[in-house]
Amino acid sequence: MKIEIDYNKALDLTRKIIQLKKQDKFPFNKIIFPDTIIPKNIEKGSKEHLALIFYSTSLDSNQRSDLLYPKVINFAREIGGLENIAERSEPTLRRIILSSFGRNSHINYFETLKTNAEILKKKYNKNPKEIKGKTVKETTEKICKFFNYGPEKAALMIKNFVRFGAWDFPENEIPIKIDRHVQRINLGFGVIDKNKYAEEITRKGIAKKLQLTLINLKKRGYITQQDISENKSRIITAKKFTNALRETHLKITKEENISAIELDDAYWGIGSGLCNFNDTKYCYLYCPLKCEIRPPSDDNANWFFPYIDKRKNSYLVKHLFK
Ligand code: SF4
Repeated sequence: MKIEIDYNKALDLTRKIIQLKKQDKFPFNKIIFPDTIIPKNIEKGSKEHLALIFYSTSLDSNQRSDLLYPKVINFAREIGGLENIAERSEPTLRRIILSSFGRNSHINYFETLKTNAEILKKKYNKNPKEIKGKTVKETTEKICKFFNYGPEKAALMIKNFVRFGAWDFPENEIPIKIDRHVQRINLGFGVIDKNKYAEEITRKGIAKKLQLTLINLKKRGYITQQDISENKSRIITAKKFTNALRETHLKITKEENISAIELDDAYWGIGSGLCNFNDTKYCYLYCPLKCEIRPPSDDNANWFFPYIDKRKNSYLVKHLFK
């Protein structure tokens, strides 16, 4: 099925997001972007700095990035520099990984770090800068050959390599990362037509995969068993919209000459700094987007519930500001 995105709404959303970021008000006057932190002893854009970005990005899923990036910095220190990953014996590497990252059942730290270090050594002289292809597309394809990397993480890596001057792609011609924040905000703002694309939970065994999420939503009173049985609560499958959202945003940044670095940062800032309050008071006080809804999702943000508003004070605030 061809996915249609409301281009005009996406454009309106993009302009509002960029405007908010430029004003440098809350949350942007408070946020520290974890992927921009450079340890004191490392030079900006150097081989070590790029390695830090490369390995951090490979691990940047299913966990908070503000906690992950400092852990990778610590790991680099413990191992005596990231260029040493490929040289360390398996027991040593496993020991340092465990003490630096702890356990996370969603991420295979050892496999990710070891495999990527070996590819980097074999094909790129241990230097992530050399991964660059002739075009953004070719570079994305080359990055996606690494373990635990796909187009979204490739977009994040390209963004930071361009930000720190390692690669010279124009800022308005690189993609943004379509992560959970981007998916959710586009859904809440109406860029994705939920009435057209929402699916029944009971189809294709999805209810089974969503078992824990449904228990949680029921506990919090967002949904009842009757809603599920009668197919009243429907879901949006996030991955169906990833490519269309990426292409739409790329078209917008190109046509409007907007930096994808700014836009990507802005989405992350709003998503983690504002949406996460889950409170309509914050939305109406600080955010120009005034989303109709702030839909919950499962832990991995594979599915969103577009008819449930997760925010507190939703009814009261919306009606006061009407
Ligand atoms: S803070 Fe509120 S209005 Fe702004 S994007 Fe998040 S949910 Fe939407």
